[in-house]
Amino acid sequence: MLKKFFAFYLLLPAAFVMAKGPVRLQNIRYYAYAEYTRVVLDLSANLKISEKVIKRGDGGRLFFDLKNCRFAAAYPPDKKNEIQIKAGNLKQIRLGRLGRQTIRVVFDFDQIGKHSRFYLTSPFRIVFDIYREATFVSHAQEERQPAPETAATEGNLPGGRQPGAPSAPSIARQLGLGVHRIVIDPGHGGKDPGTVNRTLGLKEKDITLDIAKRLNSILNEHVELEVILTRPRDDYVALEERAAIANSNQGDIFISIHTNSAPRRTARGIESYYLNITADPRAMEVAAQENAMSSKSIAEMRSILDQILQNSKIAESKILAQYIQENMVGNLKEKYAAIEDLGVKKAPFYVLLGAQMPSALVEVSFLSCVDEASRLADPAYRQAIAAGLYLGIINFIQSLGK
Ligand SMILES: [Zn+2]
Repeated sequence: MLKKFFAFYLLLPAAFVMAKGPVRLQNIRYYAYAEYTRVVLDLSANLKISEKVIKRGDGGRLFFDLKNCRFAAAYPPDKKNEIQIKAGNLKQIRLGRLGRQTIRVVFDFDQIGKHSRFYLTSPFRIVFDIYREATFVSHAQEERQPAPETAATEGNLPGGRQPGAPSAPSIARQLGLGVHRIVIDPGHGGKDPGTVNRTLGLKEKDITLDIAKRLNSILNEHVELEVILTRPRDDYVALEERAAIANSNQGDIFISIHTNSAPRRTARGIESYYLNITADPRAMEVAAQENAMSSKSIAEMRSILDQILQNSKIAESKILAQYIQENMVGNLKEKYAAIEDLGVKKAPFYVLLGAQMPSALVEVSFLSCVDEASRLADPAYRQAIAAGLYLGIINFIQSLGK
């Protein structure tokens, strides 16, 4: 499923935070592909940088200095300051000391087109997204064109037909909308269980994976679209790795699946999010929880977010979130009582940062609510959620032709 995806870990040190003194460079991780590379620097504390890019001939170099920074004890491994990579467009990473307190980091690329950089906290990370070409064009954008008239009458799926009923072979193909790949992200996984309902013995990571698999099956059954799961099993995948998987696979739609939780045990309902800044304290709380950080640190991200958001598909993502929300709620209401529609909201979710395609994060129900948690324990409820997600995706694809 992820054959194009190569994640290399240079080193996985135990995270430690220095109380005082210089910041430590603990690790450099990279996700390298032919057209796109995401590089992540793990640091012991906050450190702001400004990078320089040099383009020359058929190569390119990006470099920056980490001031008041030293190597962590176990980094780089074997004290090798030159790391040969030759995966995707990233050829090598070089590390050098400038005096006692500065580390210079150099990335050598085959070619550098567009690039962006942002910071994540808890723990502190610097993330670079580097593209080979100057502009990244998703398939959906590239090939978007009006739907043929005949298809519009046949493509009557959402609203009317339920998944499970016989369907036309390929809605996307009929409509000629150029949506090829859907990337589904089952939230959490491995050492990160997400929200846990101890009374019922339910973990968010298991529920999100199950819903993702059900959605995958429905999509495979009804449409000729390639579906990619960021984790097909109970694996730990870092938040910043998930959008990297979507970008590297040139996904046309990216959906991250989660279950909600709130201190108030009676809180219930379904809500969908798209990436943006928000003043809504409740939305901030949800983002803080999913980002595994405090709302205060999210507020501090504001200026970085402004920059990233300029390169994000906010308008399309909002429409995607609306279709998904509407169809999830509609589909569940047909079979279940007391389904609460909490609507479409915006918030700064790490997992969506840097995604180059329309993207949404769904909170399918509250695992902290007794009633909704017992529903989530029932495969029929999870199937109904997956069906709603499917209908939302198809509705969104159809809307592209309008
Ligand atoms: Zn979650």
